[in-house]
Amino acid sequence: MKQAAAEAHAKINLTLDVTGKRSDGYHDVCMVMQSIGIHDIVTVCTGTGTGIIELKTTNSAIPTDCHNLAYRAAALFLEKTQMSCDGIRIEIEKNNPIAAGLAGGSTDAAAVLMLLNHLYETQMNEKECMELGLQIGADVPFCLTGGTMLAEGIGEKLTKLEQAPQYAVVLCKPPFAVSTPAIYKAIDSADIMQRPDTSAVLRALKASDAKAIAGLVYNVMQPITADIHPEVNEICAFMKENGALGASMSGSGPSVFGLFTDNEAAQHTKDLLAQQYEETFLTDFCHASLVKL
Ligand code: ATP
Repeated sequence: MKQAAAEAHAKINLTLDVTGKRSDGYHDVCMVMQSIGIHDIVTVCTGTGTGIIELKTTNSAIPTDCHNLAYRAAALFLEKTQMSCDGIRIEIEKNNPIAAGLAGGSTDAAAVLMLLNHLYETQMNEKECMELGLQIGADVPFCLTGGTMLAEGIGEKLTKLEQAPQYAVVLCKPPFAVSTPAIYKAIDSADIMQRPDTSAVLRALKASDAKAIAGLVYNVMQPITADIHPEVNEICAFMKENGALGASMSGSGPSVFGLFTDNEAAQHTKDLLAQQYEETFLTDFCHASLVKL
């Protein structure tokens, strides 16, 4: 039996723009993505002798069968490499908020691909891993590398950007779920009044201008989600009133993040929000999505 483990980090969208809809139903996006400190721990054992894929997780709210993205990653890996299953056990210590717009499931899937590639010494290169990851979900290719990246296409065309300057990040997930397909559907018929200035963000990243980057965070999906859940805008406003240089929603929501350069203000804001919202965190940016343990 062999075993390996990795941290699988969540991401936020510093920007999210929807630039078109394809004939296959997918949307073209343009997003600046950033890995953050919050992470699951994914452990994979191979050669368990069971002949099947087993999955255990510390959070009973997520599936443990083929509906779990980490399970699907293992199944797809076996299919692609045409290996017979000698028994794979996946354990997920779940810390990333679920259904939060933070790519929590995608990052677990990315970790499983990376760990299986290592344990079975299959030597798939980054491009092959990303192609496989894309079959699981549009965020998986980003989750295989992470850091600060521009994602275009459906999320799979990735360009590495200058490492963003460091912030104290307050992350708050209000206790409701948002349907990503419903938000995409709504955006098709919505008049988009404001879009993120992605070029300005790229310039600010080049200049490592923390104030400018934070002031430019924007997500075109936020008005749509906030129409249904005004709390999203209220939390953003609260963060800014308490010293955030910028605040925005991640993905299709409902998570909201605030970027602070004043650590005390960030801690204070986190403490205040935590009184109302159980899933509130103080975290930071990190340079990679997967960290092998
Ligand atoms: P994204 O930002 O990519 O849209 P998300 O953060 O909004 O993702 P996830 O945390 O990945 O959402 O969870 C979405 C749904 O996927 C959950 O309701 C859950 O049932 C299912 N799911 C499948 N695999 C996982 C996993 N490994 N971790 C969490 N949820 C998972």
